[in-house]
Amino acid sequence: MFSNMRSHDVQELHMFNNGNFHAVIALHNLKLGPALGGCRFIEYNSEQDAIIDAMRLAKGMSYKAALARVPQGGGKAVIMKPKGTFDREFIFKCFGQAVQSLDGRYITAMDSGTTVDDMDLIRSQSLYVSSSSEIGDPSPTTAKGVAMGVVAAVQFLFNKNMTGLTVAIQGLGNVGFALAEYLYKAGAKLIVCDVDDNKTKMAAHAFNAKVVSPLEIYDQECDVFSPCGLGGVINSNTIDRLRCHIIAGCANNQLSNDQIGIDLHNRNILYAPDYVINSGGLIFASSRFRHLKQTYIDHEVMRLRDTLNQIFILSKQKDKPCNEIANEMAEHILFDGGHSMILEAV
Ligand code: NAD
Repeated sequence: MFSNMRSHDVQELHMFNNGNFHAVIALHNLKLGPALGGCRFIEYNSEQDAIIDAMRLAKGMSYKAALARVPQGGGKAVIMKPKGTFDREFIFKCFGQAVQSLDGRYITAMDSGTTVDDMDLIRSQSLYVSSSSEIGDPSPTTAKGVAMGVVAAVQFLFNKNMTGLTVAIQGLGNVGFALAEYLYKAGAKLIVCDVDDNKTKMAAHAFNAKVVSPLEIYDQECDVFSPCGLGGVINSNTIDRLRCHIIAGCANNQLSNDQIGIDLHNRNILYAPDYVINSGGLIFASSRFRHLKQTYIDHEVMRLRDTLNQIFILSKQKDKPCNEIANEMAEHILFDGGHSMILEAV
C-alpha cells in the first residue's frame, strides 16, 4: 500500500469501514488549499481497486485545481457500492461523518453514481460539501468553459470564429447539450450522438443537428470532435478513424493513455487537455463553497481560454503534445514555484 501511495504521490489515505459502508478518501496534494473532489459511488471488484481509483483521481484533481487557479488541493473519495440491497441514507450519513472527521482538509462533491440528494445527506453531517442543493449544479458552468475552450482552439488553429465550422458532439448530457446550444448560437453546424434517442431528437429539433449513431461518431468529417460522454474514447481503436482537426470536450480522461497524446500531436490534431477545458465545474464548486459571486465565477472561467492558449502555444513552440505541456505546467505550480508561470511563448 505504501508503495502505491508513493507511486501516486498521495499525501493522505483514509479508509472507513462500518457495516455496509466501505469508503476511501485520498488526498493527493494540499499545497494550494483543502482538497476538493467528487465522491464516486460505484461497484468495485476489490478494496484494492477502490483505493487505486481514489488515488489516481485525487492526483488528477490536484492538476486540475492547479491549472484552474483555484485555492484547492486534489482529493477524491470512493464509496464501494454494495452489491444487492443497501440503505443509501445510512451510507451517505456515514460518509458525511467521515468527511467531517478530516476537519475540512477534504471537501466533497458529486461524481459518478452520486446525486444532489446524497450530497444533502452528507451535508446533514458535514460542513464540507460543495454540491448540495444549496450550492447548485456545476454543469452549466462546465459547458460555458468548454464552449470557450472550443472557440479558443478554433481561433488558435484556424484564426476564425465558429461560423460554418462543424462540431461532432459525443454525448448530450448535462454538459454536452448545453455545449451544443452555445456552439449552435455561435454559428457552428452540429453532428451529435447519444445512446438516449430522446436527447438526439431534441438536439435535431433545437439545433438542426445531424444525428448519427454512437458507433459512427468517430468517422464524421468535422473540424472539432467533442467527447462529452465517456472517458477513454480516444484510444488505439478510434484514433485512426478520427477525421477532425481539434479534440475539445468535457469528458474526463479522454485519452486512454499518454501515448495517445503523442499520436494526436504527430497527426497534427490539436488536443485541448480535458482537465483544463472542463475545469469550469471545479471553479464553480470551489467559488460557491467560498460564497463568491457569479461575476467572480464568470471571470475565472474566462481565464480558461488564456491557459488553453498558453498550452497550445507552448505545444507548438516546443513540438510537444498538449497533454504533456499541461502536466508540466501543473507540476511546476504544484512542486516548484507556485503560480509564477511565465509564458515563454510570447
Ligand atoms: P451526463 O451523465 O449528464 O451525460 C453523459 C451523456 O453521455 C448522457 O447523455 C449519456 O446518455 C451519454 N452517453 C453515454 N454513453 C454514450 C456513448 N457510448 N455514446 C454517446 N453518448 C453516450 O454527464 P455530464 O455531467 O454531462 O458529464 C459528461 C462528462 O463530462 C463526464 O465524463 C463527466 O465526468 C465530465 N465532467 C462533467 C462535469 C460537470 O460539471 N457535469 C465537470 C467536469 C467533467
